[in-house]
Amino acid sequence: MRLKVVQPTDSDKPWYSKGLRFSCTQCGNCCTGGPGYVWTSSVEIDRFACYLRMDRSEFLKKYCRVIGGKVSLKERKNHRGEYDCVFLEEIEVGPGRRKRVCTVYDVRPLQCRTWPFWDGLLRSREAWESASRGCPGMNRGKQYSLQEIESLRDADDWPGYTGD
Ligand code: SF4
Ligand code: SF4
Repeated sequence: MRLKVVQPTDSDKPWYSKGLRFSCTQCGNCCTGGPGYVWTSSVEIDRFACYLRMDRSEFLKKYCRVIGGKVSLKERKNHRGEYDCVFLEEIEVGPGRRKRVCTVYDVRPLQCRTWPFWDGLLRSREAWESASRGCPGMNRGKQYSLQEIESLRDADDWPGYTGD
C-alpha cells in the first residue's frame, strides 16, 4: 500500500515564509527602556571574562545578577529613568552628536545576537509589527530567508560559532 503524499498548503506555512528584513541601525533602543533581562549562558560568561581579561568570578560579581537560578547582565538606571544594560555606553561621535553603543558587541550574548528572530515575535505578524515600532532595524535592510530565520530562532549558541 502506498501512502498518499500530502503537500503543504500556504496556510500550513508560517506567516514569515517569504522571509523578513532586518538590519540593525545600532540605535541602542533594545539595550535600554523598561527593566528587563539579558540572559547569559555559562559559556558566554567565560567568553565575556576572556574578552574583558577578567576572572569569571570577578565578571559575575561586577556585571551579573542571578534571577531564579539564571544569570542576567545587570542594568543601570540612566538620567532619563530608563534601565540601560550595563554594557551600553553613550559616546560622542562628532560635534554635539552622541550615540549609544554596545561596548561588548563582539561577545554579546545569544539573546542579543538573535533579536528580532525570537519565538515570541515570530508567533504572529502583529507581535512582529508591534516590536518593530521600537526597533528601526526591523522591516528594512538585509533579507533573511525562512531557513535563516528559523535557525536563528532555534539557536542555542552563537550563530556560526565554531568553538574558537
Ligand atoms: S532597537 Fe533594533 S536597530 Fe536599534 S540597536 Fe536594537 S536591534 Fe538594532
Ligand atoms: S550586551 Fe550589548 S547588545 Fe546586549 S543588551 Fe547589552 S549593550 Fe545591548
